[in-house]
Amino acid sequence: IRNLCIILGDQLNNDSLIWQHFDPDQDIAWMAEVYEESTQPISSKIRTVLFLAAMRHFAKQLEKQDVTVCYLNISLQLKSFAEALQKTLTEFQPQAVYCVLPGDCRIKQQIGDFCQTQSLKLQWLDDQHFFSTPEEFTHWLASKKQSRMEYWYRYLRKTRNILVDSKQQPLEGKWNFDKDNRKSFSKQGPPPTDSPITFHQDSIVKSVISDINQYLPDLPGQLTHFNWPINRKQARQALNDFIENRLPFFGDYQDAMWTNQAWLYHSLLSSSLNLKLLNPREVITLAETAYHQGKAPINAVEGFIRQILGWREYIRGLYWANANKWLNFNFFHTEKPLPDFYWTGKTNMTCLQESINQVLNQGYGHHIQRLMVTGLFALIWGSKPIAVHQWYLAMYVDAVAWVEIPNTIGMSQFADGGIVGSKPYIASGAYIDRMSNYCRHCPYNPKQAQGDTACPFTTLYWHFVNQHKAWLAKHPRLAMQVKNWENKPKAIQKQIILRAKWLNKNIDQV
Ligand code: FAD
Ligand code: SF4
Repeated sequence: IRNLCIILGDQLNNDSLIWQHFDPDQDIAWMAEVYEESTQPISSKIRTVLFLAAMRHFAKQLEKQDVTVCYLNISLQLKSFAEALQKTLTEFQPQAVYCVLPGDCRIKQQIGDFCQTQSLKLQWLDDQHFFSTPEEFTHWLASKKQSRMEYWYRYLRKTRNILVDSKQQPLEGKWNFDKDNRKSFSKQGPPPTDSPITFHQDSIVKSVISDINQYLPDLPGQLTHFNWPINRKQARQALNDFIENRLPFFGDYQDAMWTNQAWLYHSLLSSSLNLKLLNPREVITLAETAYHQGKAPINAVEGFIRQILGWREYIRGLYWANANKWLNFNFFHTEKPLPDFYWTGKTNMTCLQESINQVLNQGYGHHIQRLMVTGLFALIWGSKPIAVHQWYLAMYVDAVAWVEIPNTIGMSQFADGGIVGSKPYIASGAYIDRMSNYCRHCPYNPKQAQGDTACPFTTLYWHFVNQHKAWLAKHPRLAMQVKNWENKPKAIQKQIILRAKWLNKNIDQV
């Protein structure tokens, strides 16, 4: 054969550049379920089912289009991409390998190394799924004194003509409606909405579940609630469901949390976007149309588009701008492993219990749960960034290195020292109390920092401020927090430090 065209598990789009280079008479598509992609780094059961089921669906669709697919199933127990490629090389002897830029520089390296050792021509192709390329981002970044998402987002809105008028000014006069988007729910809880659309488990999902039980039985998490789109048709249904039922509320309650309510008004589209079952352009176009038709207010539509056009593209730009450096960042020099309850959900802290069990069962948490519950706790606990990254990459159905790593290592742990955000997201239990009803169901008191019923977030927050006060005091937006610590009576400070030491030894009982 002429070209072996590699299709990775997160490259399931028909509009990929690879198809412009594909000749069905001379080339084959190559897809592989390799063992290490679920075990090193580890991937939860639910995330693995999603990836493998979506890959098998895509391969089936390609075959219907008369594409020859060399599909290496998990049952072959091939360890790595190198081993899988070696097997194919012997069988087909291709002249060259084509592949779209992977979402993980580790995979890029592996494929690159393999082709080099085999003296096999390798052609990388741009990933056209995104609005921008890593090169455009680096070029934009070079002209900025400080990199901030807001300016990248405005640049993309203007250059891609999104939510702007004919003079490239923002619709309704503002680039940003963030201030309107931080509401919490009243005591009655979230306004009712229909539950998200559900999908019937077809024979492909069932076959993947059975393979996982056979070949990867030790992966973390449960498979009782699998309900993620696994092909383009389902992803479109999920998109329409969000636009019709939840987008109108998305802005107001973007940051709010509530017990037993995993989804609230979020889109649940990240896994479909990241596997490329959906194109971000079609998602944004539908949201814009809903605004123009008066079906959703500007704060909801702008807030939603900001996440996809702003954050998603910005994070990807930063990932590639620092590709191999990310996993070595450790700004606060932290060394602890994550507490065991991250893998079991067994803790009495309601906010963590809810957020972690949701991930174990459904592979999902919304942004504020990831940032201000699981992420915040890991940060003030002093977990080493690499351990936090491994957990996030394993547990969320939408986790792919390019998006998970900068969000975890950068935004949530500030291990990058300020590449993604200008300051660490630190807060006491009071923040969680304001944005949710979790504390009302918790044995701990978010206002208390010392004593047996002290909220561990509040204790560890003050402990963190004390530990890093020399650095925090120099930060214009954080110096106040050091002053508040210093204003506490010495006896109270001592009790807080004592409680933090107690937590350090007894976290698995908390
Ligand atoms: P919505 O709340 O409905 O948002 C709409 C879309 O905007 C999302 O589908 C997503 O594509 C995009 N988006 C929103 N925030 C971000 C962001 N910060 N970075 C990139 N895209 C964003 N997102 C992932 O897709 N994969 C990850 O592995 C991932 N890991 C994260 C780890 C941490 C510690 C944090 C704080 C955030 C992480 N995020 C990740 C970003 C964000 O939390 C998820 O994209 C979002 O919660 C997905 O749910 P949703 O589709 O319902 O999103
Ligand atoms: Fe979480 Fe503290 Fe509130 Fe309990 S009291 S839910 S631990 S923030």
